[in-house]
Amino acid sequence: MVGAAIAYGLARSGVQILMIDGADGDFRAAAANFGLVWQHGKGLDMPAYQELTRGSVRAWGEFGAELANVTGIDLQLEQNGGLTLCLGEEGYESRRGTLQRLHNQMPDDEPDWEMVDRVVLARMMPDAALGPEVTGASFGREDGQVNPLRLLAALRAGTVRLGGTVRGGTPVRTLRPDGDGYVVEFGDERAHASRVVLAAGLGTKVLAAQVGLDVPIRPLRGQILVTERLESFLPLPTMDVRQTREGTVMIGATHEEVGLDGSTTGAAAALLSHEALRSFPGLADARLVRQWAGLRIMTPDGHPVYETSGTCPGVFVAQCHSGVTLAAFHATDYAAAVASGRLPASLNVFHQRRFDVPQAA
Ligand SMILES: Cc1cc2nc3c(=O)[nH]c(=O)nc-3n(C[C@H](O)[C@H](O)[C@H](O)COP(=O)(O)OP(=O)(O)OC[C@H]3O[C@@H](n4cnc5c(N)ncnc54)[C@H](O)[C@@H]3O)c2cc1C
Repeated sequence: MVGAAIAYGLARSGVQILMIDGADGDFRAAAANFGLVWQHGKGLDMPAYQELTRGSVRAWGEFGAELANVTGIDLQLEQNGGLTLCLGEEGYESRRGTLQRLHNQMPDDEPDWEMVDRVVLARMMPDAALGPEVTGASFGREDGQVNPLRLLAALRAGTVRLGGTVRGGTPVRTLRPDGDGYVVEFGDERAHASRVVLAAGLGTKVLAAQVGLDVPIRPLRGQILVTERLESFLPLPTMDVRQTREGTVMIGATHEEVGLDGSTTGAAAALLSHEALRSFPGLADARLVRQWAGLRIMTPDGHPVYETSGTCPGVFVAQCHSGVTLAAFHATDYAAAVASGRLPASLNVFHQRRFDVPQAA
């Protein structure tokens, strides 16, 4: 998802681009995610991430429209706002406190969220019966949802449509300096490039080590449940439950430290069902038709890593765990930075050296 967005952005600005993708059996969060374009509630303790996410969410409308236009693929983008439901008075106040802290990080910006009580929430979702514990929600006015599989397909198709080349099923094996650029060996081929972007999800670590970078990422499993198609009852996505254009309801997602294990579990299905029913008891009648697991790409603080190699100029790294939300940023500002050959100073804060600070005794 990250690499595809950057590739599309580079192709869009006329850069000759070869996107090399791995095999279908690879861990691929892009094919397992929840599809939220989301910013409210993100960036606590890192205002730069809050700002980055907000910028990307604001750029999404124009970016999505252009991508749909270039490819003819309907991304099913809706940006009418998003809700995080609160359970109990304590849950409501805790959510308000978190969002207020986030606002205090960027006090000059108008808050793009508000707390809505149960009465208002019920008016916003007249066809959804709320569970008795629901006390209200936070409403992020700019948030939304997209079909992530369509997004991925469109980014790839758009890259090709704009003159780029996409190769799949051909993992990069080696990357090394060669003259004024780099030689990349993939499948049984090789290519020469003046610049290389490493955005291979969990596969990035191995590749980055070849150019002197130790990218601190780990997998974090997320499982999702999907119901049969239901009558439309959720006009807005919530953080944990959203209804797709086709009518299925997605319920997600777990956060599990289980290493490189992409399997699904009955325990997760029980937990997700239980939590969803606390918000929307009517789902008790719905049949589950699918369950899957994906591995998030997590850094130690959960925020992105954007950097260039100190020893191998022209090699960029892009890692994050909100690749759908940040797709607009990756396809515009990040791609423009790669095209220019250097990342702007505003992204210095996302360099992995932030993790090198020695721990206080
Ligand atoms: C359960 C779950 C829910 C999520 N929900 C959301 C959400 O609602 N909104 C949001 O914004 N984000 C969400 N995400 C996160 C989002 O899916 C990821 O941020 C995004 O997919 C990361 O993109 P990526 O390209 O870095 O990694 P991936 O999508 O994992 O892709 C990595 C790619 O690199 C390729 N690769 C690996 N090794 C090599 C190699 N050696 N050579 C070439 N290619 C290689 C793989 O084949 C793969 O195609 C969710 C993730 C999960 C797991």
